[in-house]
Amino acid sequence: TDFWATVQQGPEDPILGVQDKFNADKDPKRVNLGVGAYRDENGKPWVLDSVLKAEDILQKKKLNKEYLPITGAADFTKLASELAYGKESKPIVEDRIAVAQSISGTGALRIATGFLSFHYTGPQVVYIPNPTWGNHIPIVEQTGMKSARYRYFDKKTVGLDFEGMKEDIEAAEPGSIILLHACAQNPTGIDPTKEQWKELSILLKQKQHLALFDMAYQGFASGDVSGDAFAVRHFVEQGHQIILCQSFAKNLGLYGERAGTFSMVCSSKEEKNRVLSQVKRVIRPLYSSPPLHGAQLVATILGTPELLELWLTEVKKMADRIIDMRSKLYDLLVKLETPGEWGHIKSQIGMFSFTGLTPEQVTALAEHAHVYMTMDGRISMAGLNDHNVQYFAESMSKAVK
Ligand code: PLP
Repeated sequence: TDFWATVQQGPEDPILGVQDKFNADKDPKRVNLGVGAYRDENGKPWVLDSVLKAEDILQKKKLNKEYLPITGAADFTKLASELAYGKESKPIVEDRIAVAQSISGTGALRIATGFLSFHYTGPQVVYIPNPTWGNHIPIVEQTGMKSARYRYFDKKTVGLDFEGMKEDIEAAEPGSIILLHACAQNPTGIDPTKEQWKELSILLKQKQHLALFDMAYQGFASGDVSGDAFAVRHFVEQGHQIILCQSFAKNLGLYGERAGTFSMVCSSKEEKNRVLSQVKRVIRPLYSSPPLHGAQLVATILGTPELLELWLTEVKKMADRIIDMRSKLYDLLVKLETPGEWGHIKSQIGMFSFTGLTPEQVTALAEHAHVYMTMDGRISMAGLNDHNVQYFAESMSKAVK
């Protein structure tokens, strides 16, 4: 019997599909600005020195490969939470954060939606910014919850549509779940200002909405891990019982190690224990327990003062190189008299720039210049370096003209 004769071909992933097209192009000038992974000044993946040193330490310890508990390595989740919330954060001090190790940020989001679909008694709707990271909607909808959008990007100003964002959050049914990118919004690179975060905190409180933070880029936005945690920490200080999905893929360069955490601020330690017992029941049938090695690396780095210090300089180095590329690309586009206003390339934050290129221009760049990016015109700034930025600016300028 042919059981699968009726299975239809699925669409290719809009982000990972770009990688396939790039791989198939053998032109030496090819440039890959699709996938959101850091590249060094020579366009190569970078394993951080702090990670290499942690690998050495771990190797010498000759640890075993036993299973972790369902909620992961306790030293890792403790240090990771302190990094996100701040050591002095009230719910940390009062031991009322339910935290579990997750399969990086994606897995954290999936635990969040799994838990919410079982236990959230408010409206089972997650409001997501428009545009957002392409995986948010399927992660929500796979659990049977609904997704809705709030306005975020203003095409006219190539900036934040703050009024539209507030109107949509205000109009959502009270108690809705509002997904917020903690910093370095993907794909726009546009974040609310501190003042705007404060307004959002008040608005969400008024509407009794639940804040679900996705923090995939702590440290990547500004180079400063505490500064990038501002929104999360402010909401917590204001008494929001937030949910946080934390990833170490980008800021520690641990992409394939899949290290992250899922956490929920609870009202008491007793509540935390109850909640955690149910979080375990979400995780167990998904993958039983999380992977060991990435968590051991993160715990070693965050828990060893010299390695922590080294890592902080390395995050800053990555953020600074990206900021430098923004400014070089901007200068070149202006010098080449590229029609349009390009200030947003410099003002946007984090790994990506939302260029404003149209799908036709994106296609033309791939076909004629061997330059690859997602169809929405998003470029990974980390894919640019001193060797290819001139070529890219010239190609982009040509595509716009
Ligand atoms: N959230 C956002 C906004 C992202 O951009 C990403 C990665 O690109 C993730 C979450 C999750 O990444 P990972 O599962 O690799 O931690």
